[in-house]
Amino acid sequence: MSQTDDTTTDDTATTGDDTTTTAEFGLSFELTPSESVRDSAEREVILSDPGFGKHFTDHMVSIRWTLDEGWHAARVHPYGPLQLDPAASVLHYAQEIFEGMKAYRHADGSIWSFRPDANGRRLQRSARRLALPELSTDDFVESVKQLVQVDSSWVPSAPETSLYLRPFMIASESFLGVRAAQQVDYHVIASPAGAYFTGGVAPVSIWLTTNYARAGKGGTGAAKTGGNYASSLLPQQEAYENGCQQVLFLDSSESTYIEELGGMNVVLVYADGTLVTPDSDSILEGITRDSILELAEARGHRVERRRVSLDEWRDGVENGDIVEVFACGTAAVVVPIAELKGEGFHVGSPAAEGGPLTMSLREELTDIQYGRRDDVHGWMTRLDA
Ligand SMILES: *Cc1c(COP(=O)(O)O)cnc(C)c1O
Repeated sequence: MSQTDDTTTDDTATTGDDTTTTAEFGLSFELTPSESVRDSAEREVILSDPGFGKHFTDHMVSIRWTLDEGWHAARVHPYGPLQLDPAASVLHYAQEIFEGMKAYRHADGSIWSFRPDANGRRLQRSARRLALPELSTDDFVESVKQLVQVDSSWVPSAPETSLYLRPFMIASESFLGVRAAQQVDYHVIASPAGAYFTGGVAPVSIWLTTNYARAGKGGTGAAKTGGNYASSLLPQQEAYENGCQQVLFLDSSESTYIEELGGMNVVLVYADGTLVTPDSDSILEGITRDSILELAEARGHRVERRRVSLDEWRDGVENGDIVEVFACGTAAVVVPIAELKGEGFHVGSPAAEGGPLTMSLREELTDIQYGRRDDVHGWMTRLDA
């Protein structure tokens, strides 16, 4: 724990003499080691079949913000339940935001994350929309490093596995009045994750909901906030009932343009090699999508970020102009979309296989993330050193 400095938690203090990677005016993290760390046998049982989001590492990070003191009391401490007053505003008014990213173990044992600064900047954008305080990207990246370093043995090494990192920020002030909270807590927890696809990448069927919207104009669609997910759960059930794995949302004003899935962005591939993705101010801008499109551009593909109507998708697939469609996000990386179904609507075929461009972009991106290919874009950040 070279970044641990137990002499101060003042965010304006200079760091201790052994704090080489902490920004000059960054927070210093105090470490309280867990006294009930699971032994290696117990950990190996979990890491051999981690699933997703079920098991958590031995520690967590917490940083408090108050109107008077700003960010302070940064610490790494044993994983455990939060103490929240029942009147904490997050429980009533949903003032919260989160991030999702992964720590990848490379063949030499080192641990890396993918564009963590982009997650840090997105957390700041989400914070502004939810009237929460912004954490500096340096403190954000440092918070993730702190947790991964103390719990490094929880980063699995089997192919396509990772340690999923979940930074989040909640309004913890106990106050039932409706206004931005004056006390906020930021935490990072980590959960080992198995390969998303076991037995090959499987294309998915998508349900087109026409009864529900995920986000509206001027709403919180572009912020990573729990409320967007809460409103997607009912249409997601509708998707399951119709034999689909995910739900696609349309724009809420005209129900004409495609937006995104509950937690993944969508990209269409044209026969001439052009990649098209919906642009709208109610879409969450995925870092996976941004990276995939950059890889495609580097290969000479044209990329268009613009409004995409549902008719364009249907007509394009039917007349052969659109040859591949995929969804993308951190958890699953890239998932081919085989078919899109809705009330009286059907496009594609459940038997469709992942398209060649979809699959090769997926491979290029995961090769970079797992250190199997040179990181020519400078996207990887080492976490364990
Ligand atoms: C997190 C998220 C995504 C994907 O973003 P990535 O940075 O690629 O993981 C897409 N849509 C929504 C609604 C999300 O919350």
